[in-house]
Amino acid sequence: NLFAETELHEDLKNNIERCKYVKPTPVQRYAIPIAVAGRDLMACAQTGSGKTAAFCFPIISGIMKERLASGLLPRGGGVDSDVAFPTALILSPTRELSCQIHAEACKFAHQTGVKIAVVYGGAPIGQQLRILERGVDILVATPGRLVDLIERERVSLKKIKYLALDEADRMLDMGFEHQIRNIVQQMHMPPPGDRQTLLFSATFPDNIQKLASDFLSNYVFLAV
Ligand code: AMP
Repeated sequence: NLFAETELHEDLKNNIERCKYVKPTPVQRYAIPIAVAGRDLMACAQTGSGKTAAFCFPIISGIMKERLASGLLPRGGGVDSDVAFPTALILSPTRELSCQIHAEACKFAHQTGVKIAVVYGGAPIGQQLRILERGVDILVATPGRLVDLIERERVSLKKIKYLALDEADRMLDMGFEHQIRNIVQQMHMPPPGDRQTLLFSATFPDNIQKLASDFLSNYVFLAV
């Protein structure tokens, strides 16, 4: 079982190889085929399990394949009168984790044309606004700063096709539930719409199960 044998876009596979990833970790081995097949997924994943790649690979590959198939720009990624319309959103609890995900995702998407940006609170908003103005396919964000950008009408989630929630249990523990629900409500269609949602969490208490039943449709539960 190797990355070379998976259904990912060939250019992404070359980047994966350059990153020296050869063999998928257990969570990657099971999550990637499920996500590539278009299913919603709730996965049990600890820090260090390789979960970042487990949600980044299917999202990056999906955007690249959509581009290839249509010969056109994907439906998101553009900027219209200062509003960015990302195709994918990755929510994470902290600035540190968001920056880590962003750095990894940029390596995976190297020279693919897939644009990735990160926004988080506790930092001046000006530079983040300028990056968003250049257009973004995949937006990595902490919930509070994203709500701020939506309220300022600098980001719209109407074209989101992929949503990943990383460390969902930690986000709820930190009190982000209200913001997360607000964010998901902004998306074009509620499930079972055409959005694919991937939820990663280390634990599965009642509040996470409730979130999964509200945000995911007909999902696969993966515990490795
Ligand atoms: P994560 O759990 O996503 O934070 O990943 C933990 C660490 O493992 C990161 O430094 C990754 O770059 C690395 N990693 C993840 N998946 C693989 C893989 N399949 N092969 C080699 N390294 C990996």
